[in-house]
Amino acid sequence: MIYFDNAATTLVDESVLKSFEDALKLYFANPSSLHHEGLKALEMENKARKLIAKCFNDENFDVIFTSGATEANNLAIKGIAYRYKKNGKHLITSKIEHPSVREVFHHLEQEGFTVSYLDVDEHGHYKLDELEKLLNDDTILVSLMLVNNETGAVQDLKKVREILKKYPKVKFHSDVTQAYGKIDFDYSILDLISFSGHKIHSFKQSGALLKKKNILIEPEILGGGQQDNLRSGTNDVPREIALAKAVRLAKENQKDNYEHALSLKKHLVAGLKDIEGVEVNSGDDDSPFIVSVYVPKKGSVVAESLSNKGIYVSTKSACSSKKEMSSYVLEAYGKNDKIAQNSIRISFDRENTLSEVDEFLRVLKQILIEIK
Ligand code: PMP
Repeated sequence: MIYFDNAATTLVDESVLKSFEDALKLYFANPSSLHHEGLKALEMENKARKLIAKCFNDENFDVIFTSGATEANNLAIKGIAYRYKKNGKHLITSKIEHPSVREVFHHLEQEGFTVSYLDVDEHGHYKLDELEKLLNDDTILVSLMLVNNETGAVQDLKKVREILKKYPKVKFHSDVTQAYGKIDFDYSILDLISFSGHKIHSFKQSGALLKKKNILIEPEILGGGQQDNLRSGTNDVPREIALAKAVRLAKENQKDNYEHALSLKKHLVAGLKDIEGVEVNSGDDDSPFIVSVYVPKKGSVVAESLSNKGIYVSTKSACSSKKEMSSYVLEAYGKNDKIAQNSIRISFDRENTLSEVDEFLRVLKQILIEIK
């Protein structure tokens, strides 16, 4: 098998699994229990929090464990909107966010908030001059992702932070799910950060929201008051320990993994030039881990044919309606329907090799000839 779908999920790292298994036995107690075993589990949980905050360049981040980036995005966006609505009801996001951000904003619009969706240029970069025009005294939140999950476009969030300096009321959230452990970035400039464990070789249903200590949010899940009342439910300490380990390893290995992915991407892009009709949507400066490619046949059929040969990539889900088949991200780039509907995503990981890329290119070329 050739697994080029690492932006969808990654294989759990052996050492992360080992930490989890050990912790299941050693720290099985409920960290809210006041007895010795409970306190032992709580101590490990707080260690995991500290390690995660440190890896995100700022020990002042509070770490709220969640079931993944979807929940973290919901908690951040609704949490800020509800907490600070007395200060203003205008929110800003972009046209290329992941559905777990996009849908939350659609929901908030129905509740009476005003949402502006920032445009991107033909490279998928936020139009920052437009951002300056959108900001006003009613704005309380800006939520902009760091790396796009379909194309790998990397955003200049440092510049966004500079623009926001004139608006101290605005909280700055970013979904960094496809960025953490992949690209260099100073996360300490953000107020709130969402990320997911299963994109960095930990488990599904694991992730966290990081937030600066001075920022308040309304909780989504109510109950026993765990995690400072911000996310009730008994904490899964072994899962948290596994997440912290994956976060540490991702940071330690980032440089090597980046270089490796870059060599794979360059090899892929060079090889694709020899295949007629194919166009690379991703740019040279995008994250090397994600490459979006237009294929001159039905995208879903190409992905299925690749799958039949043991090569796994992503496309938009095989929905029946034409619109649903289309990528709203590529549409926001200004790509035509043909490209927005027939692009596939190749996403790399440290385990992938140049010879896998060669095999992919060979099979893709063959498939494009065979498909009517
Ligand atoms: N944001 C981005 C950018 C993603 O790529 C994903 C995963 N597809 C998510 C959020 C959702 O993450 P999770 O599966 O942990 O809920």
